[in-house]
Amino acid sequence: MLTSIQAQLSDQLQSLQKAQAADPMPTAADRIDRLKRLETGLLNYEDMLVEAMSEDFSYRAPGESRNFDVTGTVAAIRTARRHVKKWMKRRRVGTPLYLMPARAHIQPQPKGVVGVVSPWNFPIFLSLIPIAEAFGAGNRVMLKPSELTPRTSQVLTEMLTKNFRPDELIVVGGDAGVGAAFVSLPFDHIIYTGSTAVGRKVAEAAAKNLVPTTLELGGKCPVVIGEHGDMKRAVERLVYSKYLNAGQICIAPDYALVPESRKEELIAAVVAKIDEFYGDYNACPAYSAIINDRHVGRIESLIKAAEDSGAKVIQAKTSSASNARKIPPTVIVDPALDTPVMSEEIFGPVLPILTYKNREDAQRIIAHNPNPLALYVFTQKREERDYWLKNSKSGGACVNETLFHVITDTLPFGGVGGSGQGTYHGRAGFDEFSHLKSVFVQPKLNGMFLFNPPHGPFKHLVGRIFRKLV
Ligand code: NAD
Repeated sequence: MLTSIQAQLSDQLQSLQKAQAADPMPTAADRIDRLKRLETGLLNYEDMLVEAMSEDFSYRAPGESRNFDVTGTVAAIRTARRHVKKWMKRRRVGTPLYLMPARAHIQPQPKGVVGVVSPWNFPIFLSLIPIAEAFGAGNRVMLKPSELTPRTSQVLTEMLTKNFRPDELIVVGGDAGVGAAFVSLPFDHIIYTGSTAVGRKVAEAAAKNLVPTTLELGGKCPVVIGEHGDMKRAVERLVYSKYLNAGQICIAPDYALVPESRKEELIAAVVAKIDEFYGDYNACPAYSAIINDRHVGRIESLIKAAEDSGAKVIQAKTSSASNARKIPPTVIVDPALDTPVMSEEIFGPVLPILTYKNREDAQRIIAHNPNPLALYVFTQKREERDYWLKNSKSGGACVNETLFHVITDTLPFGGVGGSGQGTYHGRAGFDEFSHLKSVFVQPKLNGMFLFNPPHGPFKHLVGRIFRKLV
């Protein structure tokens, strides 16, 4: 029997599906109009959203909110807006010689209604980019944002309901229970961003209705400082990306691997860079807090377990009144691979540093966990770069940089294995939310009669010639 929330969600989905059926192939102008409304709405609500995110996090550095949640999202919306007309067009493809003179093309077609389930860590970026790309592909959307950012979800809902009709987009509030009911609906596609554990449940629920899914999950992203890495450069990028949003980023470096001979150099440089970037971290306006007390407790217990097992813990100091949800930028030296800090995704401002003897040894450490969402390698040698790109499996990778593949809209973004499946962003997002329909067009004059029975000697001969042509 359907619960009342399932029944309500089901009614909402049906109303969107009905609207989509009445307009199954929105024009480029309609799609661009939706994308423009999305951008305008976001920009009009920017200050309120930045404030709301800070309220939810108990403090969220406004520069980070503006650069990533707002500018990153605006960039993705504009990319979709600029290219949608071209991406919508039929894509002519060749036809095999033996089927000539037939023609073939691919017709991108909206999937229908896309369900978007988003997390709390970049609540705007991870809600609005899937919406923008689903709209670009001509779909309607139902969004279920995270309950862990209630104020942001409230402002976001207000912004979206003000700018979109209920036959274009519906936002659904609620917790994990509502999320579970949401993903049990027969959407035409579901994109879920969040933990790997919940991703499994989403895949299971979607499979019951044979709903295709894009799963944007987590993992432990390694930074490999190569034998030939530029330490100064590596440390600047490493510290920037590890402590941005207090480490609550799916593609944040989870831990760093460094050749044994360069360990002390790395630790000293990381500690100095943390001090340069954040100083008295509690008073530092660029340093964000942790989303809630449960996650503070979780991260603190990762640090404690590592310390109890004998690893060295180095933490930044503060002398200002404390925000109880700011965890100091922390470095953990040489934690054992079986401690939780090395077997669970950290998702906090804690950087384990481990050493490796040789490349195979570094690979062994990485293989201790499922395929990461990203891998970062710092090296000045092409041979070393190529080694890591060839011998590692991750959703994405950066060379002498971290994070920025995520806002490179010419690159598909997504995980592999445990870190997810399916990709979006830019053209990849358009294709992910489209059905790429194969169309074969037969002209009046054709050779198809050669396939018809009866199959006498002449047709057998033609069949043998066909075989040479395939
Ligand atoms: P979360 O707890 O906010 O959950 C995400 C969403 O899933 C929420 O809307 C929640 O209500 C919903 N949900 C919870 N249980 C559900 C269920 N059984 N069925 C359906 N929906 C359900 O977020 P989180 O999981 O704590 O987010 C952090 C994780 O997300 C990290 O592992 C991180 O690496 C990952 N992440 C991945 C990406 C990416 O792009 N790959 C981006 C951000 C975060």
